[in-house]
Amino acid sequence: MNRILIVEDETHMRMGLADNLEFEGYEIDQAEEGNEGLTKILENQYSLILLDVMLPNMSGFEICKTIRAKGISTPLILLTAKGEEIDKVRGLELGADDYITKPFSLRELLARVKAVLRRGEMSSPEKKSVMAKIGRLEVDFPSYNAFSEGCQVQMSHKEYEILKYLYEHKNRTVSRDDLLKNIWGYEERVTTRTVDNFILKLRQKIEEDHEHPQVILTVHGTGYKLLG
Ligand code: CA
Repeated sequence: MNRILIVEDETHMRMGLADNLEFEGYEIDQAEEGNEGLTKILENQYSLILLDVMLPNMSGFEICKTIRAKGISTPLILLTAKGEEIDKVRGLELGADDYITKPFSLRELLARVKAVLRRGEMSSPEKKSVMAKIGRLEVDFPSYNAFSEGCQVQMSHKEYEILKYLYEHKNRTVSRDDLLKNIWGYEERVTTRTVDNFILKLRQKIEEDHEHPQVILTVHGTGYKLLG
């Protein structure tokens, strides 16, 4: 199912969009402040983001710039106010896929949403061929999608990054320090315990029996090894 995140501080507008998109069959998540929106984008995966420009804490532009710099390519439609012509150009330069000017009709919005989602699907024609089979999961790393028995499995951006790293180094031991260095970099205060917690979450999604892992093995005193 297509999951859409709405980041909009005007309650009336946000709720209205949410209700209507839900009615159209989309699954909706909402954020009313900029930093809340950014956190949700980093921790979840969406098919589409509807992003207001003027937001408390962090503007839509900043969010757009930040997520694109992190390599997140989720389709994004900016919601701009009337008369903000320069903003539109800037938004597209920063990596937005489209924009829509307030006030807009529901019909117009739905048309844009469908068009952007369709474009997103078409831009990944290699989707099927790059599916990686990992335990119970089939993972499409480029589009951050994972499936188990045909159903989409929710995974955070970090979980994808960790799994991808292990997969790229499969059948080899990857130390916790390697993961810390390559996934988190040195700037964030994370410990090896954080790594272990993420591995636990991944195992619950991948393994037939996460208490007796057969895919992501623990290499005692060192780290992990993904068998593939
Ligand atoms: Ca606003």
